[in-house]
Amino acid sequence: MIPLVLLGAAGRMGRAVARAAAESQGFRLKARVERAECIPAVAARDPGESWSDSLESSVAAGDVVVDFSAGPATRAAARVCAAQGAALVSGTTGLDAETEAEIEAASRRVAVLRAANFSLGVAALRRALDETLAALPGTWDIEIVERHHRGKADSPSGTALVLAGDAAARRGLKKDALRFGREGRVGPRPADEIGVHAIRGGTWVGDHTVLLSGEGEWIELRHVASDRQAFAYGALAAARYLVTSSPGLYTMNDVLNPNR
Ligand code: NAD
Repeated sequence: MIPLVLLGAAGRMGRAVARAAAESQGFRLKARVERAECIPAVAARDPGESWSDSLESSVAAGDVVVDFSAGPATRAAARVCAAQGAALVSGTTGLDAETEAEIEAASRRVAVLRAANFSLGVAALRRALDETLAALPGTWDIEIVERHHRGKADSPSGTALVLAGDAAARRGLKKDALRFGREGRVGPRPADEIGVHAIRGGTWVGDHTVLLSGEGEWIELRHVASDRQAFAYGALAAARYLVTSSPGLYTMNDVLNPNR
């Protein structure tokens, strides 16, 4: 049984991972870690569950920490996992450069998997985008539109940034080619721009469209996640992959193609 420690356990994704683990074979939910101020309310809702506000005292060597929380918690998780010999599956988005560096440092000591999106569909969308761009002339315009629920903290989504980064790399463009929304008299669209647009509202789980526009024709590549379980099962597949992996920084591509 793989011992899981959930960080951000009372959140939307934390609860989805707990449900997926309960429905899957081979996982033991060892600890639910949350901010101290959240624990009384969640503990009252289900008295059968135990909660902790300390990741440090919840983690031991051989555990897998599954992190869907917020930047400061992710940074602490990277440090605790490296110090205690636990693997880390991290899906938190909108991280700053220091936190990314802390994750990379942890991956020199333990197995770490970072993904802005754990769904298999998005992994397939990334491949489809790469092949489509390879088949098209470089004159086609690229715009990315994402939609998420009103509670999402970071904009644009981590997945939109990954898709934009993939497209920029394929076109040989730098990160400053990304154009986040447009307002006012911005003039004609430059050819080497990648537009990224974030829509927020309602309960959308995650919706990403890549629009490729040519002369008198266009292509839309779209992925819609309608249920968080899609991400939760991906995170569990990542946890299963890490327990037999050496220290290193892995991606969902490694999980999908373990022999590559
Ligand atoms: P949420 O706000 O519902 O849950 C986050 C939880 O983390 C909250 O319960 C919060 O109290 C907890 N938390 C914050 N700081 C903490 C700390 N220091 N210690 C312990 N717990 C702490 O958010 P969510 O929708 O579950 O998303 C969480 C993160 O995961 C976001 O960054 C989101 O963008 C990302 N996300 C990633 C994927 C993916 O596939 N990679 C999918 C969905 C969401």
